[in-house]
Amino acid sequence: MSQMLRGLMQDDFPLTLDHLRRRLGSCNEGAEVVTLNPDATSVCRASHAEVSQRIDRLARALGTLGIQQGDRVGTFAWNNQRHFELYFAVPCIGAVLHTLNVRLFQEQLTYIVNHAEDRVIFVDDSLVPLLAKLAPTFNTVERYVVMGEMQGEEADELPNALPYEQLLERAQANPDDAFEYPQLDERQAASLCYTSGTTGNPKGVLYSHRSISLHSTVTLSKDGTGLSRADRILAVVPMFHVNAWGLPYGAALAGADLILPDRHLQPEPLAGLIERERPTLMGCVPTIFQGLLSYAEAHPGLDLSSLTNAACGGSAVPRRLMKDFEERHDVRIFQAWGMTETSPVATYSRPRERTPGGGTREHDDDYWDERATQGRPLPWVELRLAGDDGGEVPWDGTATGEIEVRGPWVASRYFADSSEDEKFATGWLRTGDIAAVDERGNVRITDRSKDVIKSGGEWISSVELENELMSHPDVVEAAVIAKPDERWSERPLCCVVLREHAGADAPALVEHLRGRVAKWWLPDEFAFVSEIPKTSVGKFDKKLLRARLAEGKLEGRVPVS
Ligand code: ADP
Repeated sequence: MSQMLRGLMQDDFPLTLDHLRRRLGSCNEGAEVVTLNPDATSVCRASHAEVSQRIDRLARALGTLGIQQGDRVGTFAWNNQRHFELYFAVPCIGAVLHTLNVRLFQEQLTYIVNHAEDRVIFVDDSLVPLLAKLAPTFNTVERYVVMGEMQGEEADELPNALPYEQLLERAQANPDDAFEYPQLDERQAASLCYTSGTTGNPKGVLYSHRSISLHSTVTLSKDGTGLSRADRILAVVPMFHVNAWGLPYGAALAGADLILPDRHLQPEPLAGLIERERPTLMGCVPTIFQGLLSYAEAHPGLDLSSLTNAACGGSAVPRRLMKDFEERHDVRIFQAWGMTETSPVATYSRPRERTPGGGTREHDDDYWDERATQGRPLPWVELRLAGDDGGEVPWDGTATGEIEVRGPWVASRYFADSSEDEKFATGWLRTGDIAAVDERGNVRITDRSKDVIKSGGEWISSVELENELMSHPDVVEAAVIAKPDERWSERPLCCVVLREHAGADAPALVEHLRGRVAKWWLPDEFAFVSEIPKTSVGKFDKKLLRARLAEGKLEGRVPVS
């Protein structure tokens, strides 16, 4: 009988965040973490080496708070250096970093904290008033640690609160007395993030050291986020949402600078931060890029030129947004797709820029068609499309099905919740996203299954209609929802935000769509709204739009005659 011949490599070397932590202090010389201060103008800087020493102190301090392996430690914080320190100290002592989305509804936060059984919550001083209201509803939280300059009164709003800097000071060790981190298993849990819970209760995704290590490694790949030691990374995507797409861990691994905007996510402070700090790479959702673009239009001379590479995702990235940034500001935005359950990045759109003959493709329509897709699966991510009958849908660029994924940073089930186990039953995760995949492996999302519009037994892609509408120069934002219809069962209703002083009206927009989408997709009705409501992570909140429609509260409705 033949026997397996084992390789003779150090295969037991664990893929843990402790490796990333060690790099901060050992080989990231010159790299820094920059945080925007509350005044939205000045910054606080620390080298990776300084941060690494503070992480040691924090790790020791967590022990004094009684935190043990497997315990959940919550954070209620924006993107800042202290949050970054927690990203390492908590998992590296074997505990679990539970990042709480500060924008969730109060009942959801109560549910999440109690479900995760958080023992301690680290909270930004600016968020204390928000958390203090909820503290009485938390069953397992023993103490709070307040981060920032706040002393006295505000911190007193929380029971058993301690200032972060005091905690670290107390844990100041004698220089000879290095903190001994425990040996970790790469399969042990490192962090926990709940999905925003668009249906039912929020679900916890429990990342392992191994999954985060591998995912961060791929952020350094040129076919992915492509970050390197040469970069100054501006992480605008919140650190409370899916580990800020892996950017903080990627920065530690690469030895890149990390620039954190704290709570300042509005275009003006962001633009100022970009001008002063000159980041080369930035990650955020399309709505933030859209805001920045409008701001830049109103402020000619704004210098965004340091940015050469940007990662965008979370919802479909309009082609026009990418083109406008590229043509007007030389900023290249690349689209990624993923979800909390996939850590999150699973596909990335970086088409080939050269033809086999050596010519460039950058100005070809074909190249832009590819750029506008959600891209190809990253290394180690496998993807397939499931049809209605459960069979596999071919990759022909047209036929659509539900995306199923598997890979080392894809969830295998939810934390302490079996209510959706069927999503994981086959060893592939059913994502709820509908897409077509072309022969090159490019994924083109056409909808989320809950947003799809079923008209006369066929599907209309709300994402495609939105993209086409947003390619009209007068349209700032567009969200398309299903409107109940007696004859067709559902018809598309387009909620549109027009640019100020725009001349376009419903007939003009229908004309614009004609020829770009199938005739039977043309909308029956528009709603000209002042703003599209957004979810806690900045996506169009179609659930709310549907509710407004059902309650007769949707403003600006104009039927297409
Ligand atoms: P939630 O499910 O609470 O919205 P996630 O952030 O996990 O939270 O959202 C993941 C979903 O976002 C995906 O399932 C997909 O529908 C959507 N999404 C993410 N990136 C893209 C993209 N590039 N294009 C279209 N949809 C996207």
